[in-house]
Amino acid sequence: MLPFARVTIIGLGLIGSSVARAVKAAMPDVRVTGHDADPQVRERARALGFCDDVTDTARAAVIDAGLVVLCVPVGAMGVVAAEIADDLPADAVVSDVGSCKQSVADALSAVLPGATIIPAHPVAGTEKSGPDAGFATLFQGRWCILTPPANAPEAAVEALRAFWQRLGSDVEIMEARHHDLVLAITSHLPHLIAYTIVGTADDLGEVTQSEVIKYSAGGFRDFTRIAASDPVMWRDVFLNNKEAVLEMLQRFSEDLTALQRAIRYDKGEELEALFSRTRTIRRSIVEQGQDDDAPDFGRKH
Ligand code: NAP
Repeated sequence: MLPFARVTIIGLGLIGSSVARAVKAAMPDVRVTGHDADPQVRERARALGFCDDVTDTARAAVIDAGLVVLCVPVGAMGVVAAEIADDLPADAVVSDVGSCKQSVADALSAVLPGATIIPAHPVAGTEKSGPDAGFATLFQGRWCILTPPANAPEAAVEALRAFWQRLGSDVEIMEARHHDLVLAITSHLPHLIAYTIVGTADDLGEVTQSEVIKYSAGGFRDFTRIAASDPVMWRDVFLNNKEAVLEMLQRFSEDLTALQRAIRYDKGEELEALFSRTRTIRRSIVEQGQDDDAPDFGRKH
């Protein structure tokens, strides 16, 4: 049995269009309706054909929905939820794909009192944006974290779990604040560091610019992939997961200072011990199937 017969996706960029494509691939009988605020994105979505129907308003998109998935930047979740409030069917489940969860839960519950809201976060993505960037296999073998509030109906949580499993994800249930802390260190801080390193290199000015690009294979280019991620999406992530990010940043700064001291005072053993520990973390990630074992991320040489 299908977890939901009619799915509405609002926001048809990388993640929204990937959800639509994955639903059509895994559950062809599900009717997928889409909407995006940007007329050009709607036009492109119609041309690409990953939705059965693309509506011009968010309200029209949700009229007969069983599941509504909000795939817009986290700062826009509340705005979209307010737009659909009057037309949302009473038995519909409202979910999202936002990269932080407590602020989204608060924004949705404020404007959709009485609705069944189950926030979710597929831990999958790329540095690309827009409807052309999506693909049906994005969620396969990746985690999807659901953060249902304590009063969420069990049947709705199980239906959403089944939905993401059909898209190929492994599903985990977590408390929203805990999610935000975990993702602050595994995703948000790495993005902040990448933005900083690439920004600093850029600030070094014209003298070194060409050399930065020329010798980027020394490690720099791996940071540039992350630092090429969508500016609006990431602006919203940092503004909406402020507390957890600042807490992790404080710990990171302390560890960086310790590393600075180790270099200054020639503490080679200390450096080697840390670098050995970090190497085993990379091995665990590969062993758990969260990345490929190919050297240099499988780049052709
Ligand atoms: P994206 O490619 O930029 O797509 C977002 C789409 O939403 C854009 O087409 C945008 O239109 C549209 N939009 C913005 N405000 C809207 C509104 N008020 N009503 C309707 N549509 C609106 O971004 P994405 O990467 O798919 O990210 C979407 C969500 O997924 C974010 O919450 C993000 O945190 C989450 N997420 C992203 C990743 C990732 O790796 N990218 C991974 C997991 C979760 P315009 O920009 O043209 O105005």
